Amino acid sequence: MIDMHAHCLPRIARAEAFAVDAERAPWLDIEAGGQRGHIMLGDRRFRPVTASLWDPAVRVAELDAQGVALQVVCATPVMFGYAWPAAKTAEWARRMNEHVLAYCAHAPQRLKALAQVPLQDTELACREADHAMAAGCIGVQIGNHVAERDLDDEALVQFLSHCARQNIPLLVHPWDMMGGNRMKQWMLPWLVAMPAETQLGMLSLILSGALERIPDTLKICFAHGGGSFAWLLGRADNAWKHRDIIRKDCPHPPSHYARRFHVDSAVFDPGALRLLTEVMGTDRVMLGSDSPFPLGEQQIGSLVREVPFLDEAARARILHGNAREFFGLALGTA
Ligand SMILES: [Zn+2]
Repeated sequence: MIDMHAHCLPRIARAEAFAVDAERAPWLDIEAGGQRGHIMLGDRRFRPVTASLWDPAVRVAELDAQGVALQVVCATPVMFGYAWPAAKTAEWARRMNEHVLAYCAHAPQRLKALAQVPLQDTELACREADHAMAAGCIGVQIGNHVAERDLDDEALVQFLSHCARQNIPLLVHPWDMMGGNRMKQWMLPWLVAMPAETQLGMLSLILSGALERIPDTLKICFAHGGGSFAWLLGRADNAWKHRDIIRKDCPHPPSHYARRFHVDSAVFDPGALRLLTEVMGTDRVMLGSDSPFPLGEQQIGSLVREVPFLDEAARARILHGNAREFFGLALGTA
């Protein structure tokens, strides 16, 4: 199996984070014993975490136990730093990418890295993406928006076009969720806002006409099965048919563009996976666990392995073949 959606967070010290942003730069507070800790923002606990997040030896042992041949790891989105001055984020992204590459260097046949970039500045983002690819990353992870700018923003479209021309695969991860004070409890930002953020990113690329301008060589995968996108694509098509303001920048129904996207398989329900494979195609869905967080798939690949409706060829594509093609990984990696 190839798991293409998993996170790490390097051993960032409190002083290192505070030197960048005393409230918003993440760091790790690791408990005595080294097996558990917290991601910290300032002196506030953001999330309890375990050692595989920062220790590649622990991660590889987990991959062994779960039968995962290769895992693609990327930053935890709280590391993005898009709200900082761009030069500061560029320096931070360079350092984080070096950390993630060092994490993967522990087991180069088992762990591959996606880079992060200073997405608020297109020129710096392109430069870091190119540098990271040359340094050994196999793609780039971006957040689905930069403050009020969504993926249809012209500067972001330029970045996506650069990646299309340079053959840099992208994972788009929802972050900085909408809803604010209306979603204070019960992880509602993760349960309600994250799927909507992802759908917003996908529909903004479609309805703005950006996909008409971005080269169709773009390899772009959206996390969490594309959030609400597949489930509500019929609603978007119906709206496109009956309201001219939805057609004004978009010459084809939204479903026409669905195959420009890849998604991961992190939907946790057989019926949802069935719908996802029908809407996107079995060649557009890739195993993604969202490890090592509690909202991820605890037994990596179990949903894809166990559903009855996939034939063995489709199952193999989702479990490893599609990711191998998407990231240009050598045959034999699976
Ligand atoms: Zn994730």
